[in-house]
Amino acid sequence: MRPLVLKGGRIVTMDRERRVIDADVLVRDGKVEKVGRIGGRADGQTVIDCKGLIVLPGLIQAHIHLCQTLFRGLADDLALEAWLAKRIWPLEAAHTEESVYWSAMLGAAELLLGGTTAILDMETVRHTGAAFEALESIGLRATAGKCLMDAATNPASLREPTERALQESADLCSEWHGAAAGRLRYCFAPRFVPSCTGPLLRAVSDLAERAGAVIHTHAAETPLELQMVKRDTGNDELSYLDSVGISGPRAALAHCVWVDGEGIARLARQKTNVVHCPSSNLKLGSGIAPIPEMLAAGCHVAIGADGAPCNNRLDAFEEMRTAALIQKPRLGPESLPAAQVLELATLGGARALGLEAEIGSIEVGKRADLTVLDLSGPHAQPDEADLISRIVYSARAADVRHVVVDGRVVVKDGVLKTAKIEEIRRAANAQARRLRRAVGF
Ligand SMILES: [Zn+2]
Repeated sequence: MRPLVLKGGRIVTMDRERRVIDADVLVRDGKVEKVGRIGGRADGQTVIDCKGLIVLPGLIQAHIHLCQTLFRGLADDLALEAWLAKRIWPLEAAHTEESVYWSAMLGAAELLLGGTTAILDMETVRHTGAAFEALESIGLRATAGKCLMDAATNPASLREPTERALQESADLCSEWHGAAAGRLRYCFAPRFVPSCTGPLLRAVSDLAERAGAVIHTHAAETPLELQMVKRDTGNDELSYLDSVGISGPRAALAHCVWVDGEGIARLARQKTNVVHCPSSNLKLGSGIAPIPEMLAAGCHVAIGADGAPCNNRLDAFEEMRTAALIQKPRLGPESLPAAQVLELATLGGARALGLEAEIGSIEVGKRADLTVLDLSGPHAQPDEADLISRIVYSARAADVRHVVVDGRVVVKDGVLKTAKIEEIRRAANAQARRLRRAVGF
């Protein structure tokens, strides 16, 4: 790949000093080689003019279900349990390899066009290989995993024998963990405690440890879930997850809405990653996660849009703004300020993916995942305003001009370069129609 220069932008580095500097960024072999003044154009360089634009570390969403993108708008205004049982599980069960592929393409296109460069993804129980193929071709950085559901209480259409589920996970891990020159990674993804047996969860912990992979699951999303776990295991959910080895820096727990002071102290002590999904928590009526309390206790927190049917956007800007706003009626307007929210969507996400040494900030030696914003629109003016405030409170996905992942320009001038958006739209619509006919609603 030819060296790439992003010339003349304002760089929000997210480095240790949180420097914002006017500089060029030189990218070679997928990495940031220099941040500073880059002299005259050398032969063979690709130059992108970033004058008047803002260069951010690529945004990271640490909880996404690409397999659900085709379900957007098919499961609105329901509580989590009905949302899952009546809509999401039947739709997931109706997926084919082709529909998983186009669901991933549609979701990944939306993410890239909106400035998200890396995700932690949970697929469904079948056809996870097809999602990886989509991710490989479209150029998003992703850590994805097959969803694990082996408990007797699961719908028969998705339940799998424990051994078979684990074997397929291990096979997918050997095939995809580190693929596309390290851009793709595997995660072990038990759906949530009520969907999984104890032996499966313990085995997942061992497999992830051995493979150096992340464990991606949901936790403490609703009071009903907590009651179910208490009834089945006699334990509160976070202690139970810890007892089966799902805690610590290797674990990413989506939601954690219903966590008390003791739970927060445990998450902080063990450095377990919490993935905050504010829009999803609001739309499903799950509640407001105590994120400021978690951050004050030293918890590691990332952010994510969750799946398209519970959001219904996969827009990192929307999640940042909502994350900040929903805390303010509860704890006052000073809580969760913009600068802290931007950390969740960059450094926090990198940590949840286990990639804090590689992404999350614009620094020499890190992978070149970059999002270039045009904040000249009236909604993000005047320029005089605080830049971080404009990014978190004013910017939207449509302000994304260019996106680079692993040194490759995947979005240029607001246009996806790695796939044809018309083709994605056509195929995704055909697959969504087929799914809807298959489930009969
Ligand atoms: Zn989820």
